[in-house]
Amino acid sequence: MLGCVGLLLVALVLQGEQGTLGRLIKGHEARNYDYTIYHPLAEISTWMGQMVSENPDVVTLVDYGSTYENRTISLLKIGLKSDVTKKAVWMDCGIHAREWISPAFCQYFVKEILRTYKTDSKVEELLKNLDFYITPVLNVDGYLYTWKDNTTRLWRKTRSPGTDGCDCIGTDLNRNFEANWGMVGVSQNCCSNVYPGFKALSEAEARSVVDFVEPRKNDIVCFFTIHSYGQLILFPYGHPNVTAPNYNELAEISQAAAKAIKAVHGMTYTVGSFAEALYPAAGSSMDWARLIGIPFAFTFELRDEGSFELPENQILPTCEETYAGVHSVITYVHNKIFYSAAITASATLWTTLLATWFSCTFFS
Ligand SMILES: [Zn+2]
Repeated sequence: MLGCVGLLLVALVLQGEQGTLGRLIKGHEARNYDYTIYHPLAEISTWMGQMVSENPDVVTLVDYGSTYENRTISLLKIGLKSDVTKKAVWMDCGIHAREWISPAFCQYFVKEILRTYKTDSKVEELLKNLDFYITPVLNVDGYLYTWKDNTTRLWRKTRSPGTDGCDCIGTDLNRNFEANWGMVGVSQNCCSNVYPGFKALSEAEARSVVDFVEPRKNDIVCFFTIHSYGQLILFPYGHPNVTAPNYNELAEISQAAAKAIKAVHGMTYTVGSFAEALYPAAGSSMDWARLIGIPFAFTFELRDEGSFELPENQILPTCEETYAGVHSVITYVHNKIFYSAAITASATLWTTLLATWFSCTFFS
């Protein structure tokens, strides 16, 4: 009889992802944090502190900027101590306030790498060779505003006021970077949702990213910015007349990521440069990252294909498939940098040894 009860419990847990029991079990694993619902800013801030206190050797909290309304912008630095010269991966979420699935993904991603690195030697290797800089909510003021009430839920921009007699609030952070700024896909009307600001980097939030990333641009090899919606994997550039020098490689990496995503829940993600697959747009953080020399830069537009208000029952499947896509990209970049470097080093060693042997044989 007890065996039957045990079996029943196991069955309930296995099938009860969204059920109360499933939530309790998962909540326990994740130290009581529920990754299947959207969280207000205060809870995300508390969660960041918990990640640090629960993983003090691996996770560090870095306050690296502030918003127009003087709130702190923070990231989690995640990595294992290592003797090798480390490279780094950047990931920001919540640059557009209403895209709530984006911060939900950053949190899921952090949870997953911290859950798996002790048992999965591949993830452990990633954390030994790479530091991850992860910002769960970049547009802090905007995110807070979307939680105010139903009328503000779909806010996209920052909360800074317009200039030159324009009374509207907010700049589109993803048009505010120094990357062909203001040239295409923007409106100079400050009431527009794609207002790029009165100048490049007019926004404190964009400047905070630049001030953190720019000094580390030789270390950061991969730059992700997570958005919704559209189910797209985009790479530079947003300006239709500019082509990335590694366009073909970026396209191949993105195709592989789309395949990895599809394998999880069968969802189709479209791949292309920002201008090709979405629309021409200048001043995005991704374009800026590529322009300053970060070789692999991507925008992920998550589910679905019609709404910024993705239902909570899609958070977990969206995060699971996106994790597979992001993991595919990171693995490619990691292996290219660390394995081809090792191959080059060992090839050089063999060449040197052979040359030494020949010179000893024939000239001594
Ligand atoms: Zn967006």
